[in-house]
Amino acid sequence: MKITIFGTGYVGLVTGTCLADVGHDVMCMDVDTDKIARLKEGEIPIYEPGLESMVKANVATGRLRFTTDPEVAVGFGELQFIAVGTPPDEDGSADLKYVLAVAETIGEYMQEDKVVVDKSTVPVGTADKVLATVQERLDSRGVDLKVEVCSNPEFLKEGAAIEDFTHGARIIVGTDSERVKRLMRECYAPYIRLQEKLMFMDVRAAELTKYAANAMLATKISFMNEIANLAERLGADVEQVRRGIGSDPRIGYHFIYPGCGYGGSCFPKDVQALERTARDIDYDAELLGAVEAVNNRQKQTLFTKLSNAFDGNLKGRTIAVWGLSFKPNTDDMRDAPSRTLMEALWQAGAKVQAYDPEAMRECRRIYGERDDLVLAGDRVQAVKGADALVICTEWKEFRSVDFHWLKEQLAMPVIVDGRNLYDTEAVREAGLMYYAVGRGDSL
Ligand code: NAD
Repeated sequence: MKITIFGTGYVGLVTGTCLADVGHDVMCMDVDTDKIARLKEGEIPIYEPGLESMVKANVATGRLRFTTDPEVAVGFGELQFIAVGTPPDEDGSADLKYVLAVAETIGEYMQEDKVVVDKSTVPVGTADKVLATVQERLDSRGVDLKVEVCSNPEFLKEGAAIEDFTHGARIIVGTDSERVKRLMRECYAPYIRLQEKLMFMDVRAAELTKYAANAMLATKISFMNEIANLAERLGADVEQVRRGIGSDPRIGYHFIYPGCGYGGSCFPKDVQALERTARDIDYDAELLGAVEAVNNRQKQTLFTKLSNAFDGNLKGRTIAVWGLSFKPNTDDMRDAPSRTLMEALWQAGAKVQAYDPEAMRECRRIYGERDDLVLAGDRVQAVKGADALVICTEWKEFRSVDFHWLKEQLAMPVIVDGRNLYDTEAVREAGLMYYAVGRGDSL
């Protein structure tokens, strides 16, 4: 099949590359000329395990191409995927300007019937808006062409995006058109040979499914963080509680790790956007509000613990930070807890020595050169001469540490662990104070 993808971010690039990899002819379009120039050179603008070699291999076969030319892009695919960003607007609702800009482009240049596939995460009712936008352009051009719009939300996780795209639990397509169903079945046929995981539903249900899935996962995290905060105050070890409840198959072990709050480009904005949608229809989504409030509070806890450990005076201190990305195996720092921490530290007059295996470039891009931020070459350099260590991201390379060595490095024997990586007793035996989430020393 000939497929066009608008947007070459995490979702667009992974979608385009994976679809090319199973034999489709794919054209990826982006308005970011620098990004497209780099992609044409075989350089991947994001860090996503396995993606670079896959892009190169598919470019080499000629099945994966890149363009900035909207006319070429629209002319190419019978399916036109929209995979552009939907960042939060000022009021928390999803900003549809990029999605609707693509819809305008499609309406402007299409010369034959097209199916538009909405892969961006968008509020219920957006497919209607996309259709109306394309139709308006067609009408103003005075051409009579057919356009159909379906919803095909994406569930991939950054860091495991290729595996998730190719072996996801389900592929959801919202449409009531038999023609669209046939085309989407053909598009995803390579992934559904072993198991019937293609689910057709109506457009609005598909749009809501994406928000419901992310809101459910965010709820699990905030719930567990709430329990961790209680455990901490009650002298219970939340890791034991986690194992205790996870063993119940109705609860399960997935997604019940306490931590320093969820971040990234999806959970915070999607929970907010769903809440905003609820407000628009005069429904008070109390649970969603609480999920967000608990998360915002949780993201402050690293700083609060550190500040308490230093009797409220962090001025002039140097704090080592291990992990900047919002989770391991990605360079994405959008809404990352590390940012809340670092910004609070700078506000308090402290200096940060940070290390992350992949997000250093992104950190420099966000914060630029500043005297109170040192980007260290590795985890060892980050703790050299530091007063204390904070762990924000559970990268594998932080999991095993010689605590006696660490004690030697730190001026104050303090670890604040936002990911509960270590055995409490082992840390304490080395003479370190260990402030984790829902366990460890109490402050
Ligand atoms: P991103 O910000 O990484 O990439 C978006 C890309 O779209 C950018 O490269 C931008 O230049 C491009 N773009 C903007 N306007 C354009 C236009 N008019 N034509 C062509 N390209 C244009 O975004 P992302 O993380 O890939 O997310 C895309 C969508 O997918 C969002 O709605 C997001 O919520 C959803 N989603 C993201 C993830 C994830 O893990 N990142 C997972 C599932 C769903």
